[in-house]
Amino acid sequence: MEFDFDVFVIGAGSGGVRTARMAANEGVKVAVADDRELGGTCVNVGCVPKKLYTYASHFSHDFHNAKGFGWDVPSTHFNWPTLVANKQVEISRLNGIYGNLLDNSGAQIIRGYASLKDRHTVIVGDQEYTAKRIVIATGGTPNIPQVDYAHLLISSDEIFDLPEFPKRLLVVGAGYIALEFACIFNGLGSQVQVSYRGDLIMRSFDEDIRHFVDQEMRKQGIDFNYHSQVSNVVKQTDESLLVTFEDGSTIEVDQVLMAIGRKPRLAGIGLEQVGVETTWNGTISVNDKFQTNVDNIYALGDVTGGIELTPVALAEAMTLVNHWYGDGSKQMDYSLIPTAVFTQPNVGTIGLTEHQAIEQHGEISVYRSDFKPMKHTLSGSDERSFMKLIVDKSTDKVIGLHIVGEGAGEMLQGFAVAMKAGATKADFDATIGIHPTSAEELVTMRTPS
Ligand code: NDP
Repeated sequence: MEFDFDVFVIGAGSGGVRTARMAANEGVKVAVADDRELGGTCVNVGCVPKKLYTYASHFSHDFHNAKGFGWDVPSTHFNWPTLVANKQVEISRLNGIYGNLLDNSGAQIIRGYASLKDRHTVIVGDQEYTAKRIVIATGGTPNIPQVDYAHLLISSDEIFDLPEFPKRLLVVGAGYIALEFACIFNGLGSQVQVSYRGDLIMRSFDEDIRHFVDQEMRKQGIDFNYHSQVSNVVKQTDESLLVTFEDGSTIEVDQVLMAIGRKPRLAGIGLEQVGVETTWNGTISVNDKFQTNVDNIYALGDVTGGIELTPVALAEAMTLVNHWYGDGSKQMDYSLIPTAVFTQPNVGTIGLTEHQAIEQHGEISVYRSDFKPMKHTLSGSDERSFMKLIVDKSTDKVIGLHIVGEGAGEMLQGFAVAMKAGATKADFDATIGIHPTSAEELVTMRTPS
């Protein structure tokens, strides 16, 4: 059968664009469809603008810290519209780069919301396209509870472009997005309160890291309310929001950010039409070749409910294209994926938490270091750093590495290579430190705690 395309990718985010480009580079006919700007969540309302806003928010700490180093910093003023506008210029530049990359690869960009008609046909607007293979890479979208005050809540999709800077912000949730935005807006000058249903932030992280980050964020003036659930939000005559919690307490804020996880973006895509199976939480089930139960329809990235990280989606895309047109030898390896939370200070983590390590390995050694970074000996800041190594006693392999401190994300990448290569504690010990850095702590931890 003749098809319009060899590969039709639905969704031009990180995973979709990479699949389309890599497949087109193999000389086959490829289309990629999206109804939004190219680049998906990461470029438009995720990693990129988040990191830019993180940089913006750091300045307030830097201005404050500069005094101890002899700088006389005159009074400063933050201009939200300037940040929003400059961010948009950069995002538009990146949208253009994504377009050029696709054009240069020979993939055809189709603008519009795509849906499946049958296992080989995609509809976009009033056009139908046939394809030998279809890839669903539509990513995710923030969860917003179905409550009658939902219209008063915002998500990470809206927060970057708020018309007014929120002087008082309530953040609901205590995962990546909640804590990153809590730190961003605290740094930019908002009064921030975090409301979390559990008893401590960052549930899946190492216990020491959770306590440490909680303390560091509190030191910066962020309030945490644990065992807390919003029960109502009402807009008042002055446009402020009156939030009521289940315990009856109330606060007045300018915005309520819901950061309570994400769900697959699949509304109207027509999975039922072609019989593509989903899991209990609505994500698409795939095998290790990214095939759905309909074997010419594939899915990758956030929509499959795996690890919601851009580099994972990129790696999945490369693996998929290798299965199709390469030697097929590539397999996704989901072990030892490093990740950073861009809180202030940052968190960098790879491998097992202490609890997981005990469960999986039994006998372990744990090394901890809690210290004041050299910069803060003069800055006057009471920010501290924390590092933790978890070692399997029987093999001496480092099986968990956790950092809280400035530049933790940057620091972690190199250590992740070492761990992926199977580095032992003896290898860490044999590595000469770089002095004076915070990272040298990780190669000078001598005594287990
Ligand atoms: P997370 O899973 O990280 O956090 C969700 C938070 O919301 C948790 O604290 C969770 O609590 C809470 N929660 C979940 N459901 C409810 C509910 N019904 N009511 C109240 N609270 C609830 O999700 P995020 O939305 O923060 O981020 C989504 C994903 O995006 C992340 O998992 C990560 O993979 C990715 N991401 C990565 C970033 C990075 O690499 N730096 C940055 C931003 C996002 P509990 O723990 O009790 O379930």
